[in-house]
Amino acid sequence: MRVLLAEDDQLLGDGVCVSLTEAGYATNWVTDGATAEAALKTEKYALLILDLGLPRRTGLEILRDMRARKDDTPVLVLTARDTVHDRVTGLDHGADDYLIKPFDMDEMHARVRALLRRSTGRSNPVLEHQTLKLDPAAHVVTREGNTVDISPREFAVLRMLLENRGKVLSRARLEEGLYSWGDEVESNAVEVYVHHLRRKLGPTLIRTIRGVGYTIDKG
Ligand code: CA
Repeated sequence: MRVLLAEDDQLLGDGVCVSLTEAGYATNWVTDGATAEAALKTEKYALLILDLGLPRRTGLEILRDMRARKDDTPVLVLTARDTVHDRVTGLDHGADDYLIKPFDMDEMHARVRALLRRSTGRSNPVLEHQTLKLDPAAHVVTREGNTVDISPREFAVLRMLLENRGKVLSRARLEEGLYSWGDEVESNAVEVYVHHLRRKLGPTLIRTIRGVGYTIDKG
């Protein structure tokens, strides 16, 4: 899951970035509006966390322009200004939700999960496939009711495959969801995670489509 964070406050930005990364989101952090806009135009993000008060371009300008070009990436607005006017303007410009600073990290995570859930059209937060269950909120995977010990990156790969059941995800797409900018990408990382997942969850769950990528079948 790739998340773009646009926040010019170093301390807050760092805290949010670390917290998201620890939760398994590949997080790109930018500190001004122009860079945020450039990132949105070159990458596909599952979510944008957007400070309204940004240098070079304001959050509202970014929001207005992305909606105008039919970019429907979910947006969680951060605002220090607790006025009804700012919140209404943000929502009118196409924000999906907002948080008023200072906010609690647990609350932020809950809102992020809710937005991601809504954007993928699922009302049930737990992903299920046969006897397998993946709970994004609790970060837990169970098989036949037993908890499976799984690393954050294995979890991220499994989550992407489960959210896109019936579709084939390329190695590049899975890598993109795993890494943030600047992270070292080992060439066989995805293969290694898939190998571990098969060892833990059975050899038939994830199918390799030779030359294309990986898939989990529907049903
Ligand atoms: Ca700011």
